[in-house]
Amino acid sequence: KLINIAIDGPAGAGKSTVAKKVASALSYLYIDTGAMYRAITWKALQEKADLNNGEQLGQLLESTKIRLVPDEKGTEVFVDDEEVSAAIRQNEVTRNVSIVAAHEKVREQMVEAQRELASRKGAVLDGRDIGTAVLPDAEVKVFLTASVEERAKRRYEEEIQKGMDSKLDAVIEEIRRRDQLDSTRLISPLTKAEDAEEIDTTQLSIEKVVQQICRLVEE
Ligand code: C5P
Repeated sequence: KLINIAIDGPAGAGKSTVAKKVASALSYLYIDTGAMYRAITWKALQEKADLNNGEQLGQLLESTKIRLVPDEKGTEVFVDDEEVSAAIRQNEVTRNVSIVAAHEKVREQMVEAQRELASRKGAVLDGRDIGTAVLPDAEVKVFLTASVEERAKRRYEEEIQKGMDSKLDAVIEEIRRRDQLDSTRLISPLTKAEDAEEIDTTQLSIEKVVQQICRLVEE
């Protein structure tokens, strides 16, 4: 029987790496909801939109086509048919995405699109509000955490690998700031769903975390 799996947690907890592997182990669809918020943020920056104007951003989103296309590496992201997979990982987008994602007019549309993508079941969604708001009835819910130092280290190493010019201190700062914004916003803030299984990944390998989640699926 196909189910949906919700994976939430703060930045750098390993959600996307783990979610991708779980999806591939089960032949499920992986849906990177953070990429969707990054995509509209990228577009808003291109258009020089006012990032504090939720009404305007909501309208911009209505007229923007965001597409997630699964590939071997994860997901290719398109905004109005332009491939933006790398562009949405740039610092400027990372720095601004939590501001854009805090607007109700933006979240309403995103949540609707995400529910639609998950409606056929057999999906792994990663984000901040999947277990609490997008799919409160998801059969398996996981909340991934890790110390802020560990999360920053992982993110930093990822960025260096991609050839980005990163500094560890700056990454720690950025992650702290984004967690603060994501967990204090008014609409579906980052929080563990009551019925989510919390997994602290600070000392765990990716494989161990994937195994634990696959075990929850079998239960
Ligand atoms: O997962 P990722 O770090 O790419 O997410 C980028 C940002 O998008 C988060 O910091 C958060 O502000 C927002 N987001 C969200 N709800 C989700 C997924 C991401 O608000 N379900």
